[in-house]
Amino acid sequence: MEKKNIDWANIGFGYVKTDKRYVSNYKDGKWDDGILTEDDTVVISECAGVLQYAQTCFEGLKAYTTEKGQVVCFRPDLNASRMKDSTQRLEMPLFPEDRFVDAVVQTVKANMAYVPPYGSGATLYIRPYMFGSSPVIGVKPAEEYQFRVFTTPVGPYFKGGAKPITIKVSDFDRAAPHGTGHIKAGLNYAMSLHAIVTAHEEGFAENMYLDPGTRTKVEETGGANFIFITKDNKLVTPKSGSILPSITRRSIVHVAKEYLGMEVEEREVLFSEVKDFAECGLCGTAAVISPVGKIVDHGNEICLPSGMDDMGPVTKKLYDTLTGIQMGRIEAPEGWIKVIE
Ligand SMILES: *Cc1c(COP(=O)(O)O)cnc(C)c1O
Repeated sequence: MEKKNIDWANIGFGYVKTDKRYVSNYKDGKWDDGILTEDDTVVISECAGVLQYAQTCFEGLKAYTTEKGQVVCFRPDLNASRMKDSTQRLEMPLFPEDRFVDAVVQTVKANMAYVPPYGSGATLYIRPYMFGSSPVIGVKPAEEYQFRVFTTPVGPYFKGGAKPITIKVSDFDRAAPHGTGHIKAGLNYAMSLHAIVTAHEEGFAENMYLDPGTRTKVEETGGANFIFITKDNKLVTPKSGSILPSITRRSIVHVAKEYLGMEVEEREVLFSEVKDFAECGLCGTAAVISPVGKIVDHGNEICLPSGMDDMGPVTKKLYDTLTGIQMGRIEAPEGWIKVIE
């Protein structure tokens, strides 16, 4: 397979049109067989449910080349089951989980020339999504839907090493109690845009959202879950009904327990505890773990002991182990790696 002539190390995180995408349509109560197409445009009614009432959800995962030269995805079955949860909450039809994984595999296979080589740090980002496509004007679920998967090559998340970031405690909320914070709905992102643009204008890399009910507990950022390391080497990660269940975070918890023999606490985390932690990181598909060096709460600075130069030592061990598993350098738990053949 001849690879595209792309400068893998310098492509950044942006959309690049690749050769093929997967499309399946839901009509009269059922999904069609689905096809791969070269057409990268979507034509829908001006009154489509997605355009009027934001009836849409998505997933995100990566394909990459392992040390042995295999092209693989990481735990796509969990993306399939999370999309099922998202569609149920948004009154959208279920796209069967086995078909979801098959659609991801088909789309990656059709774009093999865009899967970056091992060692480049770049990956092929995969974006499955679904939206209401039929006209809706009185508020109700659409009757017709489209499920699509496209891919785009993305560069290494950390150019020149993973530098710790500074984040702020946001004055905005990302999710309501009993709302949609636990599903991957586009609407959660639309309402976070003002908060992140504001944070960036103030010089912060990300927002820390607190629980909207009491504003005393740590939730997550706009697109990544938190992990904390205590001074006695435990992994602590917030548990809440309004955070998105990150597959990266769930995998890190497993790695901490089963590979590194660490104690793990998944529980409510008070903001007042944060000053006592040794390390802090953000976890999600894009960065795997991005280290946090400083958290600013209305002028009050919390400086993590791990500092602003490097990832904390325990965070680094978790990062190296998980990326080692993903890249085939360390043996993976059963079922974590889906080989695309
Ligand atoms: C997608 C997402 C994450 C990260 O989830 P992964 O499965 O690890 O990529 C975290 N928080 C939010 C709000 C998200 O949308």
